[in-house]
Amino acid sequence: MTKNAQIQRRIQAKRSSEGFTGALADMLMLEALKEAMAAELQGEVPAGALVVSPNGDVLGRGQNRVISLSDPTAHAEMEAIRSAATRKGNYRLTGEVLISTLEPCPMCLMAAVHARISIVVFGAPEPKWGAAGSLFDLVSLPGLNHRPEIWGGVRASECAKIVQEFFLKKRAGKPEQPD
Ligand SMILES: [Zn+2]
Repeated sequence: MTKNAQIQRRIQAKRSSEGFTGALADMLMLEALKEAMAAELQGEVPAGALVVSPNGDVLGRGQNRVISLSDPTAHAEMEAIRSAATRKGNYRLTGEVLISTLEPCPMCLMAAVHARISIVVFGAPEPKWGAAGSLFDLVSLPGLNHRPEIWGGVRASECAKIVQEFFLKKRAGKPEQPD
């Protein structure tokens, strides 16, 4: 079994105290991937995110929009957190789950801590910016008053592949349209 398949199987068996499951995480990652693909159509690096309740209801959606909005904070996770908080009318998203196609950067993971997100699910690791174990492990920092659980590696290959293909197409100078 490949490493990705092993991680996938470990997550499939997970169930949080609020009832969020690995199977739900897996299914919802497909929704987050749709957001990533929508970002790509706008010429953005394909990253997508959702905030969902433990039973899987989607509360907020986000796609990477840094270029379109000229906003360095317009990462998919920030957008999903903002839209969920607006919808709930509450800056706390206690007990909710953040799902991101890529390992969140320090800004986004800290936003999840501020929002009291209970679980951060991500797809592909992000070696350059990932704050959930790649660049460093933010939730293990001492002094944090809230630590989300991290479920990393859900549909990692698919989430990584669209980013790799995006950069390949970009380098080849082709328009960033699906085939
Ligand atoms: Zn980020």
